[in-house]
This record gives sequence, structure tokens and C-alpha cells, in this order.
Amino acid sequence: MRERKTDQTAFSRMTEGEALYSLGVRAVEKDGRKGINLPIPGKPGENLFIPASDEKPDAIVASDSKQDRVKGSKKTRCADCRCKVWISPSTQELLRRYPGTPVICIACVLKRIEQEKKQEEEELEK
Ligand SMILES: [Zn+2]
Repeated sequence: MRERKTDQTAFSRMTEGEALYSLGVRAVEKDGRKGINLPIPGKPGENLFIPASDEKPDAIVASDSKQDRVKGSKKTRCADCRCKVWISPSTQELLRRYPGTPVICIACVLKRIEQEKKQEEEELEK
């Protein structure tokens, strides 16, 4: 029992990098842009490429899982569905740099991507 408890709280003691790594997130380079690959929940083998940007992001992805909370994370709400999400220290830094950027949960990010895909497909059909 004791060990299980350790597992559940492990994230809170990890650095952000360690936590991301344990979630399967890897730093990658794609089309000459640096970024990270985020595994898509429920879709094994599929990754979502998130470019590491020096520009203002359209939205900031945050986890709604309490288990993903890393040391120094803050609670906020998803701009789309209002669910509680945790923003990591590096995300908080990004928000300070780009105030007003919507923070959205992973589920809503996936929804946005699906919608964009659909819109692109509809454009092609025209
Ligand atoms: Zn959401």
C-alpha cells in the first residue's frame, strides 16, 4: 500500500522535465522546428507535436489530471470547458510573457485539432 501511495504522488516531487518524460513526452525536431511530442491519450503510437515557440502561442495546453501536477504547479480553469487544470512553472512563465493566452485542457486541444481537420477537409471538398 505504501508503495502505491508513493507512485500516486511521484509527480509532485519530480521536476517538470522528469514528469513530462515519464508521460512519454519527448523533445523532437520537426520540419526544422523544435518542439515536444505529446502522446495522445487513448491513441497509442500517435503523438501530438507541440512546437516550442518564441512566439505567442494560440493556446497553452494544460493537464486536467491531478496526477500530472508537478512541483510548483498552479490550478486554473480550461478556457473552453472550464474544468480544473494544472499549469506547470514553465507554463506560468509563458503566461507572464504572453498574458491573455487561453489555457486549455488536453481534451479540448484534441477537440480543436479535430475541428481544424474537419474544416480543412471541408475546404478541400469545396
Ligand atoms: Zn477543456
